Amino acid sequence: MYYNWKEQTNTEELKIVCNLIRNGELVIFPTETVYGIGANALDPLAVGKIFVAKGRPSDNPLIVHIADKRKIEEVAQDISPIEQKLIDNFMPGPFTLILKRKDNIPDIVTAGLETVAIRMPSNIIARGIITFSGVPIAAPSANISGKPSGTKIEDIRKELEGKVSAIVDGGETEIGIESTVVKVINDVPVILRPGKITPEDIKKVVGNVRIDKKVFEEINDSENVESPGMKYKHYAPESPCKLINCEDELDQIFYINKFVKEYDNKAVVIGFSEHKERIFTKDNNFIDIGSKDDLDNIAKNIYSALRKADALKPPVIFIEGVKKQGIGIAIMNRLMRTCEYNIFEK
Ligand code: AMP
Ligand code: MG
Repeated sequence: MYYNWKEQTNTEELKIVCNLIRNGELVIFPTETVYGIGANALDPLAVGKIFVAKGRPSDNPLIVHIADKRKIEEVAQDISPIEQKLIDNFMPGPFTLILKRKDNIPDIVTAGLETVAIRMPSNIIARGIITFSGVPIAAPSANISGKPSGTKIEDIRKELEGKVSAIVDGGETEIGIESTVVKVINDVPVILRPGKITPEDIKKVVGNVRIDKKVFEEINDSENVESPGMKYKHYAPESPCKLINCEDELDQIFYINKFVKEYDNKAVVIGFSEHKERIFTKDNNFIDIGSKDDLDNIAKNIYSALRKADALKPPVIFIEGVKKQGIGIAIMNRLMRTCEYNIFEK
């Protein structure tokens, strides 16, 4: 079923949706980051359906969503003062904390790890569904595994309708990229996946922060990583993608035009509004991602831009890189993986 709650949550429908969750069914719902595909986190059979619907590798654990901080203790334990500080400052919000798990969390959720990822969304619809379901909800991003995350309902319906019991439409997601994932290791908060909550935000609160070096590194299959999700192909369209990241703006435009020409002008470019008139692609092959100076807006647009580019089935997609600062760190982390580390830098 499709439910439109863009203007307002419908309380009758909310009851139906929460019953579905309690009965072990899958529901797609919006959060402030991206859409999630959720199931009762305490029901292993229900969680199993998520892996099937997404085609997600079973060793990639899920984030457990709660709507009340007191619920953290029901699924996690031994919370340190630093972890507590992070909870106090960043929840609710686009922030996920890896904590020592409790035994009531099924292995399928944590992929057998001793830890569990916890997030408390700020989105009103997400909070309503979690609260009235009365159970924690395991929810990865709403997309087929490996594809860009779902931020717009049309994209999600195309990809997942028929694979879930309900889809709740809350309009386009606000932030557009997934939460910042943090694990405290030896009293230092380590960012395993960058997001809207930046290293500076975390440093301000606890005094220090580290970005896992795998955030910007290519990872080979046999490597041990802190977060299993780091290993997998991600956020990738069907067409091959290349990230173009020149320090000098004139170089950037020159090289993009040169590369586009090499593809007989059939390439698609995902680029900044400022460059629209200066990059010479075929008519509709320039996808405007917004101003180069508005990184929040780029984060919001990036996944739908990738899907739009892919729908054109081009031989290649060139994507403009952004400054690796603030939320730009998260955008570049995603784009490097979208491009499978195929990057032109100068
Ligand atoms: P998604 O839900 O698709 O946004 O992905 C969730 C991310 O959190 C993936 O990168 C997971 O590997 C990561 N994650 C979930 N649980 C854990 C955990 N217990 N330890 C480390 N990373 C985790
Ligand atoms: Mg995902």
